[in-house]
Amino acid sequence: MHAIDRNRLQTLMQQERQKFIEDRPKSRALFERARKSLLAGVPMNWMSKWAGAFPPFVSKAYGAEVVDVDGHRYIDFCLGDTGAMTGHSPAATVSAAQQQLASGFTLMLPTEDAIWVGEDLQRRFRLPYWQFAMSATDANRFSIRLARHVTGRQKIMVFNWCYHGTVDETFITLEGGVAKARSGNVGPPVDPSLTTKVIEFNDVDALVIALQAQDVACVLAEPVMTNVGIVHPDPGYHQQLRELTRRYGTLLIIDETHTICAGPGGCTITDHLEPDFLVFGKAIGGGVPGAAYGFTREVADAIEARQNIEECDVGGIGGTLAGNALSLAAMRATLAKVLTPAAFDQMIPLAASWAIGVERAISEFDMPWHVTRLGCRAEYLFSRDRPRNGSEAHNAMDFELERFMHLFAMNRGILLTPFHNMALVSPATTQTHIDHHTKVFREALKALTA
Ligand code: PMP
Repeated sequence: MHAIDRNRLQTLMQQERQKFIEDRPKSRALFERARKSLLAGVPMNWMSKWAGAFPPFVSKAYGAEVVDVDGHRYIDFCLGDTGAMTGHSPAATVSAAQQQLASGFTLMLPTEDAIWVGEDLQRRFRLPYWQFAMSATDANRFSIRLARHVTGRQKIMVFNWCYHGTVDETFITLEGGVAKARSGNVGPPVDPSLTTKVIEFNDVDALVIALQAQDVACVLAEPVMTNVGIVHPDPGYHQQLRELTRRYGTLLIIDETHTICAGPGGCTITDHLEPDFLVFGKAIGGGVPGAAYGFTREVADAIEARQNIEECDVGGIGGTLAGNALSLAAMRATLAKVLTPAAFDQMIPLAASWAIGVERAISEFDMPWHVTRLGCRAEYLFSRDRPRNGSEAHNAMDFELERFMHLFAMNRGILLTPFHNMALVSPATTQTHIDHHTKVFREALKALTA
């Protein structure tokens, strides 16, 4: 079994850094210009996390590929960290958006597309009522607010090392069993342990303890954790989660924003889940901003019973641009023509092929790593054993090694999501793309173990 030689890793990293810079004079010049007007030279803080000395600036993205300003072509397995899981600029979405662009984007009035999307989401996820937001973060925030509103309870519960967007209540982790603000949490409005209970995924005893006090309005959960590597639920865990939330009067919000990769109806359909709320952002509009959240008839009735028309615009559920005509036209086309059952039938076997390629290289070079997959999303983790919870997955992370793998891949025409070792397959991804990744991944292991 190969341990990583850190000196070797640093030498290799130095070579890759140099190569990255030398090969990208135009991106480098743009980055230097950007530093004069953009904080850290990037439009968004997490763009600093790309493994090179600066992010490659994009000239064009289409299907499963991205071209940078220096003319390098990349196979994109990051796909906007799921926002472009549909492939970049899918033809049906582009054409619907173009039509809508000529007829008004933001109207503050409904279009028929909103109903079409609501009806599609009803069929897809088996939840009767839907609302829209501009981002999955907002859809989660609004679902949490509504859960508090209808239960009259203050607290929420999340799983350790979850990520649900920039939702204040969720930036909490367990350190030695004690709930604390997550490290790196910027300017928390209040200590998150006042708002949130946090437990490990797959720990039924902890779930009972958290819920039995009957002060938790909702559990916010990804059905499979995807933001700390991929962590699957134990068999039967979701039934217990549902049974216990019902027993103690807690609502269940299932965030399918990433787990939509499992199929057209996400894990809610593949795993027969029965959420009270469901959130679906990112890919829903093929990359055009927008998100949706749905809920049960019981929740809808409880909200309507408390409806106050005079104050409904200032109650904390909002967003001037939410439900805009452009987002909804993009969502309609994406749901009707891009995120179809046939697309998943093509994407999922390709992701399995990606995972097999990585697995083979791991065993060829005897690395203590493993691969996991959920539908068209696959990921390798630097541990031999599959994690059962966020802590185990987080402990297996290795930032230095991860950056090397990402930079090595980028220098050879591959983009992985900058946050962990995740690859997504889109309807435009091909077996040739997958084979190139397998080849490059193998070369990285060869370099690391030579
Ligand atoms: N839910 C999940 C599961 C996510 O992974 C993310 C973002 N990575 C979000 C919600 C938030 O999405 P957005 O940043 O688009 O609001």
